Amino acid sequence: DIFLRSPKETESKHLPIYRHRDKLVQAVKSSTFLVVTGETGSGKTTQLPQYLHEAGFCKDGRIGITQPRRVAAITVAQRVAQEMQCTLGKEVGYQVRFDDCTSQDTQVKYMTDGCLLREILADPGLSQYSVIILDEVHERSLNTDILMGLLKKIFSDPDKATKGRSFPLKVVVMSATLETEKLSAFLSDCPVFAIPGRAFPVTCTFGSAVGPKDIESTAYVKEVVKVALDVHTSEMAGDILVFLTGQSEIERACDLLFEKAECIDYRYDVHDRTVEGLLILPLYGSMPTDQQRQIFQPPPKGIRKCVVATNIAATSLTINGIKYIVDSGFVKQLNHNSRVGMDVLEVVPISKSEAQQRAGRAGRTSPGKCFRIFSKDFWETCMPEYTVPEIQRTSLTAVVLTLKCLGVHDVVRFPYLDRPEERFILEALKQLYQFDAIDRRGTVTDLGKLMVEFPLHPGLTRAVLRAASVGCEDLLLPVAAMLSVENIFIRPGHPEKQKQADQRHRALAAKTGSMNDFATLLSVFQLCKSSDRPSAWCKDNWIHWRALKSAFSVETQLREILLRLQQVQDFPAETFDGNKSELFRRCLCTGYFNNVARRSVGKVFCTMDGHGSMVHIHPSSSLFDQEAELNWVIFHDVLVTSRVYIRTVCPIRYEWVKDLLPKLHEVDVYELSSVARE
Ligand code: ADP
Ligand code: MG
Repeated sequence: DIFLRSPKETESKHLPIYRHRDKLVQAVKSSTFLVVTGETGSGKTTQLPQYLHEAGFCKDGRIGITQPRRVAAITVAQRVAQEMQCTLGKEVGYQVRFDDCTSQDTQVKYMTDGCLLREILADPGLSQYSVIILDEVHERSLNTDILMGLLKKIFSDPDKATKGRSFPLKVVVMSATLETEKLSAFLSDCPVFAIPGRAFPVTCTFGSAVGPKDIESTAYVKEVVKVALDVHTSEMAGDILVFLTGQSEIERACDLLFEKAECIDYRYDVHDRTVEGLLILPLYGSMPTDQQRQIFQPPPKGIRKCVVATNIAATSLTINGIKYIVDSGFVKQLNHNSRVGMDVLEVVPISKSEAQQRAGRAGRTSPGKCFRIFSKDFWETCMPEYTVPEIQRTSLTAVVLTLKCLGVHDVVRFPYLDRPEERFILEALKQLYQFDAIDRRGTVTDLGKLMVEFPLHPGLTRAVLRAASVGCEDLLLPVAAMLSVENIFIRPGHPEKQKQADQRHRALAAKTGSMNDFATLLSVFQLCKSSDRPSAWCKDNWIHWRALKSAFSVETQLREILLRLQQVQDFPAETFDGNKSELFRRCLCTGYFNNVARRSVGKVFCTMDGHGSMVHIHPSSSLFDQEAELNWVIFHDVLVTSRVYIRTVCPIRYEWVKDLLPKLHEVDVYELSSVARE
């Protein structure tokens, strides 16, 4: 009976990696660094750690595998636990930010790259581990790139490498693409192990719905739905994988598919009376894990599966049975936006190499087809050859602080696989100086050492620490937690329901009396927490109960970090007299003084960070339409569409930031950088 056997016996022996098992284990044994490459789906992520486990690598320590994406770490750990027939969290576990599912017994640990970076802070020799596998290196996430540099720095030198360790560490770097020569050269010319692939041809066709003029339009959502339905009605059996950008678009596409599919299918076959339909499954980062599991299950007989996913399905997760790809040509990315001088989540065209990777998902087990909804013109004029590594397009503030705390003083000459522009490094140093995390000479301060302990954006950490120093952490910890989980306010697509939800959310905001979005977050947190029936309370108020539950857990964890630090370190203390609302907002100002805006005319605000961008308050804010009464505000983040919107807004008084703002101009960044170059 197939269900009684472990999936390992039935499936994993057919994976391309299986035949190379012994040689791979040998290769890991015989050198410190090893690069492993192979087509997506060949079995690298799920199988190699098991081979090493069986070969006795866990005798001395754990095997740690990093993933750039949180969902990938969790899903893959679940799969491997199942293959190894053990309980998740025992021999096989995972750790992602704010969710640790490991125990003393954990031998194979999947985690995000950010988690490993934190572990290096606490234990630079990584003494718990016998093997570190950096996975999905081709994705070039900021943290994975930094880890590459750190591991090279620490373990290239055999003397340093054994410091604090009783046995040598092995480092394996895994990548799906052919950048392997560059990786090997970076890691002291280490050996490369290439798992021969077996990819089938994929026929790609271009569409006409999205051309070079449509970069800012969102028409691609409707178009992918149309194309997916065409595939469903006219193509042979085989599942569909649709690439879209993010949660809200994916849900909208699934709704549309559902509506339309109901009209066209579920027709009964006269012979065997099975329902011939379409099983529609969304797949994105913040989805509940039990829903994610469904993605991998084969659809019921006679039913076609259609997975609508973010880029996560491009290389991180492999879904069997996919024969058709529908590619929107877009991806959601965190980019440094020079127009507003901040990191902004943006929808941008994917690169050509990314488009090829997406198409390849249709040819894993048999020939496939890829339907690109964009035109050949779009491909030629709008899509870059390769994706720019994250390190070259986002804020480096948090990682520069981490590096400084690890004793890497010269952050300009750190071994980067691809060097970020110097102005990005300078910008990070300047911000850290403004936060008092480093001094004028670029040396990390006591405050900086406290800040690095929090898995939060440095500005938010700064606000929490200020609050703790005046004894009002109860106001800021919940806010930090609420801003660290996915959006807690439900925004229904249906206009009538949207109206109801808006009304509820406005009523919640009004309860705080102060018209301040941060205060609303705090109040939602407290009201729900003190409710007898919290899930019902959430339902009544159009709040995501699941997100709020995670916020409760995050708040507890942040509080634990704070308590631990207060016990071991000299903690700054100050007194403050003034009312609670003022205290709350002044703490926020300490962290958000980079995000200050002043109203100029009508509803338009002007940012005060030197960029002087013109911004508007987002309609989701309780301050929307109240602009006339406002003068100075701070905000949490920015959304760029046809306009630049600020979100999560709080009115402040000029006096509160007056002393902080000059700091933006006071420091000579070249002084900081010359120190860094010394
Ligand atoms: P690679 O890392 O080389 O891309 P993986 O190890 O991720 O390959 O995948 C190997 C195989 O395991 C694929 O056929 C994939 O479909 C299967 N697989 C991975 N995760 C799961 C899961 N959660 N459920 C079912 N199958 C899975
Ligand atoms: Mg993989």
